[in-house]
Amino acid sequence: MKIIISYPPLADPQKGIPLLSQNRQFQYFKEPTYIYPVVPATAATMLKQAGHDVLWLDCIAEDIPYEKFISIIKEEKPDLIAFETKTPVVKQHWKIIDNIKCQVSGVRCVLFGDHVTALPQESFQNSQVDYVLTGGDYDFLLLNLCNVLERLRVTSYELRVTDLEPGIYYRQNGQIKNTGKFKLGHDLNCAPFIDRALTKWQLYAYKNGNYKRTPGTYIMSARDCWWGKCTFCSWPLLYPEFRLRQASNVLDEIGKIIGEYRVREIMDDSGTFPVGEWLRDFCQGMIKRGYHKKIYLDCNMRFGAISPQDYKLMKNAGFRLLLFGLESANQTTLERLNKNLKVETIIESCKLARSCGLYPHITIMFGYPWETLEQAQKTLELGSWLLKKGYAYTMQATVVIPYPGSRLFEECKKEGWLKSLDWDDYDMKQPIMQIPFSQEQVMEFAQAMYQVSFDPKFLLRKIFSLRDADDLKYLLRAGKKVFGHIFDFRKQ
Ligand code: SF4
Repeated sequence: MKIIISYPPLADPQKGIPLLSQNRQFQYFKEPTYIYPVVPATAATMLKQAGHDVLWLDCIAEDIPYEKFISIIKEEKPDLIAFETKTPVVKQHWKIIDNIKCQVSGVRCVLFGDHVTALPQESFQNSQVDYVLTGGDYDFLLLNLCNVLERLRVTSYELRVTDLEPGIYYRQNGQIKNTGKFKLGHDLNCAPFIDRALTKWQLYAYKNGNYKRTPGTYIMSARDCWWGKCTFCSWPLLYPEFRLRQASNVLDEIGKIIGEYRVREIMDDSGTFPVGEWLRDFCQGMIKRGYHKKIYLDCNMRFGAISPQDYKLMKNAGFRLLLFGLESANQTTLERLNKNLKVETIIESCKLARSCGLYPHITIMFGYPWETLEQAQKTLELGSWLLKKGYAYTMQATVVIPYPGSRLFEECKKEGWLKSLDWDDYDMKQPIMQIPFSQEQVMEFAQAMYQVSFDPKFLLRKIFSLRDADDLKYLLRAGKKVFGHIFDFRKQ
């Protein structure tokens, strides 16, 4: 079968670059930023290894306009085209699917991602989509679907539901059917290492604020987060069970990435990086194999999850940037979000990681319906203090958006907090929940967080921390991104 895995061009390039993959809070970035889509790239690799003809077509990263996208599909005549979708762009994807079906006969369209996992029927009601894959193992599901369709194509075999894995929605005789609730029983150690050439890894190797050294790339040691209980996070929906690859399997992939692609920094995008014995085995493996001298590693981490000894070991193993979800400086908010976190732990962990030579990146959110202006101000002050003191190295500010499938979305529906159920409005260009102060003030809080970068103390600290050309290049790239983020939260 000929299969295209694509991120189609979206209608409004003025909004910026949409961050669709592995992004728990969707955002458009004015300054181009590309996240390597690990699970779709694994799907492409699996399909190719199974003998299918696969084309990777990320029109956002490749800046391919819509007309060209359609002409590529007409020329390639794929049997199937699959997209990852998210809430703020799902309506655009429905239109694109209808247009593809109208212009290219015989192509089947597949959607996957967190939005369609929460609301699988909706896409059938609003578009001519043929299949929806639910759950986070859509690489395994897409392979299963394509193998079954291929068998149907070459034989007179009848489709039986039992041939398809659980979690697949499809149309049959005008009805929407499904194969039951998705299961996450796939062994991640059996997934192939990503074919990075097939999936054009270099498109994603430079324009990404996490990398100090380029080229960089992404891996996932686990799916997805061992905590998995934050109420605003829709990823526990995709991965209600946390699964790990063996440390040796991840190390083998890192060895291949260093050897074949000459990568200098790797971001592990598991929701939260594994800790405990696994982390220690992994770090010791990095040191033993000498990889710690060749690359930097970045990962998502939770405050309070790591002992001082483990932070030191991580530093020795090549870790650099640790991304922490701070979310709010208010204890009541942390409890309402089910973060299982104390405000004091945020400060302690940042100090500790920094004292071990690691660089904490903090993510902060504004616009909780229960937070007052003073409470939002407190969050701004804590974030600013951590950055100015050098306890946090970089930051990302967002406006909290409740996505379908998250517990916060359900809470919003119950409490009547939602201002709109039009998915186009969930693009973080404005708050979508009712809040006790103005919409402009929320956007100003996010902007103010980025403006800390112009504080003289912060700037001096950055200048004195410059050690090599990579530091300088990183600082210049980061400066550009800060301007972009300030623009991202401008008044509409
Ligand atoms: S720590 Fe919370 S927000 Fe982060 S991935 Fe896990 S559940 Fe989601």
